[in-house]
Amino acid sequence: MITLENLVKAFGTGNAPVVDDVSLSVPAGAFLVLLGPSGCGKSTLLRMLAGLENPTRGTIRFGDTLVASASQSLPAGQRGVGLVFQSYALWPHMTVAGNVDWPLKVSGLDPAIRRIRVAEALDLVGIADLAGRYPAEISGGQQQRVALARMIAPRPQIMLFDEPLSNLDASLRVEMRHELTRLHAATGATTVYVTHDQVEAMTMASHVAVLNRGRIEQFGRPGDLLTQPATAFVARFVGTPP
Ligand code: ATP
Ligand code: MG
Repeated sequence: MITLENLVKAFGTGNAPVVDDVSLSVPAGAFLVLLGPSGCGKSTLLRMLAGLENPTRGTIRFGDTLVASASQSLPAGQRGVGLVFQSYALWPHMTVAGNVDWPLKVSGLDPAIRRIRVAEALDLVGIADLAGRYPAEISGGQQQRVALARMIAPRPQIMLFDEPLSNLDASLRVEMRHELTRLHAATGATTVYVTHDQVEAMTMASHVAVLNRGRIEQFGRPGDLLTQPATAFVARFVGTPP
């Protein structure tokens, strides 16, 4: 379960908050989408969950654990989160398997266990046959799968995504959407997914938070946002695309 209470982030004193009094709670295993236009604070909110930014005020809890407040912060490495960005830089001089193994190696896991985890992760994203290739020898979509495998190999309890599909072409985006839904089901990991694409949000989410200027306009199930938008902003932003 992820619980945010009155979460605020302001950069510098006297500046308006970019995340402004956000409160919400999703159960373990949820697929929460943070949806909103450019600059509304999605990435900042995700970065606070990941431990890359600290809240100015408010709290973040994972289950019963207080992971962040203005005065304390659990280090990113101890939060059990995996993160995938839009640019998923792979090491060019390492094979696919080497890239997926890297975070496991850094964490000091036993080599025998690492081999099993790497094989498992590659299998889960459907690229077991590419283990020995180098990033330059595989397609963009396959590279994105390597980034996914690298993220899930340490078995995070929470998966965080920041617009991971925005660099892919339209057909690949659809394919990867299915892939991510499948991955979510297979791992059971609570997922937080940032996007400004309402189709992505509506097809993948169990819960959606629509953000506008750092504030939650509406939080609910995808269907509720479509049939009962709370504000004109939500209706416009979530409304059926032409
Ligand atoms: P996009 O869809 O374009 O990625 P976003 O919703 O992810 O946008 P954020 O990256 O969270 O938006 O940024 C929200 C606001 O906070 C923006 O106005 C941005 O300029 C500001 N901001 C983000 N990071 C910093 C920072 N380190 N210092 C100062 N301002 C920042
Ligand atoms: Mg962003």
